[in-house]
Amino acid sequence: NITIQKIAAGEVIERPSSVVKELIENSIDANARSIVVEIKNGGKTFIRVTDDGDGIDEEDLPLAFKRHSTSKLNKIDDLYNMMTLGFRGEALASISSVARLDVLTKTSKSAAGIHAQLEDGEIKSMEKVGSPKGTTIIVKDLFYNLPVRKKFLKSDTSESNSISDIVNKLALGNFKISFKFIKDNKVIINTIGNVNSKEIIYTILGKDIVKGLIPIEYRDENIELNGFISNNNLYRSNRSHQYLYINGRYITNYPIAATIEGQYRSAIPINRYPIFILYLKFNPEDLDVNIHPTKQEVKFVNNYDINGIIGNIIKKRLFDALS
Ligand code: ADP
Ligand code: MG
Repeated sequence: NITIQKIAAGEVIERPSSVVKELIENSIDANARSIVVEIKNGGKTFIRVTDDGDGIDEEDLPLAFKRHSTSKLNKIDDLYNMMTLGFRGEALASISSVARLDVLTKTSKSAAGIHAQLEDGEIKSMEKVGSPKGTTIIVKDLFYNLPVRKKFLKSDTSESNSISDIVNKLALGNFKISFKFIKDNKVIINTIGNVNSKEIIYTILGKDIVKGLIPIEYRDENIELNGFISNNNLYRSNRSHQYLYINGRYITNYPIAATIEGQYRSAIPINRYPIFILYLKFNPEDLDVNIHPTKQEVKFVNNYDINGIIGNIIKKRLFDALS
């Protein structure tokens, strides 16, 4: 039912950057080594995401655009999957119900690729074409059938900025993959892939930030924490330079951010925020499954005090680095 789909779509797809996020995450899940994002008019008229990943089989293609259909249900292996369980298998169905789609895809086992066109959530045409391995999804005229939502989109510039922010976040968290972001025919972001975390931070955040970073390396039987925090001379007027990845996924988590900020309270001016790029890993079985999908709180079974542990790691590193 297209009406129900359109309503449901609104919860996953708010704006062009939500489309870009879902498409890139699908490319990452499909083992892409290279992802190219191209947009026009802030993504309102045109978004194209191209990857060199596994591709979609011809017989699976119609399924990929049905609600609650996912090839990943046996793969609930990270926090992100747990937290978005309600949305599993909804992204492509949602996007295809609120935009016009062109899909070009080829797996390594098929000789030819497939080109499919979708409208109102349905496949309108499907044909065999020549194509390299991987998947390209073109999203045209987002919200063409939801005029009110379309009206509430921001200017092309702010929609583009939101997309470039998402690409930066995903590139920082997946530095083995190369990312390219092209806006109105101009290359905005270009990362080479196969680098380490420091190299990707240099590429994306710049050398002035890299100079002020203190490395973090910690592991115990429950968690692993790697990445960088800023020294007390490097801060921002907002939280825009705080990046936290949990089991590979970008997460906004205010309790953890507040815990980290707390360690700087006496060292940096009021209303200023430290920078951090942190990669946290833990066994997903230790996660409380009653986690709330929108709050993004990290809760462990057995009362493992994740905030306390992170606070102590940061405090010790700051003290060592500054004394
Ligand atoms: P989910 O990612 O939660 O499974 P989606 O609606 O985002 O749901 O995608 C549906 C399915 O389409 C995926 O499970 C996957 O099998 C397939 N798919 C989507 N994008 C890609 C891609 N870029 N490469 C390969 N397969 C894809
Ligand atoms: Mg998905």
